[in-house]
Amino acid sequence: MIIFKYAGALARYIHQQKNAGKQTGFVPTMGALHDGHIALIDRSKKDTDLTVCSIFVNPTQFNNPVDYQKYPNTIEKDIMKLEAAGCDVLFLPAIAEMYPNGTSGLEQYDLGYLETLLEGKYRPGHFQGVCQVMNRLLTMVQPHLLFMGQKDYQQCMVVSRLLQLMQSSITLITCPTLREPDGLAMSSRNLRLSPEDRHKATAIYKSLTLIKEAYNQHIAWAVIKDKATKLLTGAGFRIDYVELADANTLEPAVANADSKDEQPRVALIAAFLSDVRLIDNMLV
Ligand code: AMP
Repeated sequence: MIIFKYAGALARYIHQQKNAGKQTGFVPTMGALHDGHIALIDRSKKDTDLTVCSIFVNPTQFNNPVDYQKYPNTIEKDIMKLEAAGCDVLFLPAIAEMYPNGTSGLEQYDLGYLETLLEGKYRPGHFQGVCQVMNRLLTMVQPHLLFMGQKDYQQCMVVSRLLQLMQSSITLITCPTLREPDGLAMSSRNLRLSPEDRHKATAIYKSLTLIKEAYNQHIAWAVIKDKATKLLTGAGFRIDYVELADANTLEPAVANADSKDEQPRVALIAAFLSDVRLIDNMLV
């Protein structure tokens, strides 16, 4: 695996590889890699000839400075995992390489209502930061295919919108969420859970499963939401949201006992255990 710290050298190398006829796949990450990230690398290796991963903890997408400061860093282990997975290229830029003119007064993107609901509502500015870093990374790497996780459902929609705004020909491939044996979605932030909270954290998956089952039994959403909320608060979670949304648009959806809705739906949860914020979702 070749490691690049500078965008110029990275872009030159990728350009050569593309000229030699290689299809390129890109997996952007913030490090503290787990099997969910590696599944994206595996998928890229399967679908393309050259897999590029980036590790960059992007300051502009953290609305909470403490979350940024405490974001896990396991770079040596990450490099070993990427080597073992057969990743071809790692891009490891410093903040100054990504934001040579600093991080204030950066460009803003028209993300429409995506920015005002769910994660957009609870993490103001977060998706602007995601677009700021993704625009830079995609311009530097210029992959054919971009691999991202369904775990960050709304982020995939935002990046898809960004690709439209950039008039980009890059294809976004959304990959399934990898879970721990007890159902907890793999996440770098899981490293910050105390052993006791790690045990409680499975309540998110249990709530999503409960929602899916109850939804398919045509139970009214208000009743389902109440049960899921109690399950989470009973386990010690502080909830940001428990929502049912249209799987294509993320606009709020309501299910009731009388009419089975045929539209695809996704249930989404964001909640805190101590100061660790976890998100997860499930198509129902
Ligand atoms: P992050 O390092 O958290 O920014 O995530 C980098 C990429 O990995 C994003 O596209 C995430 O959606 C994806 N990802 C994170 N967790 C998982 C998971 N459990 N399963 C699959 N993909 C994931």
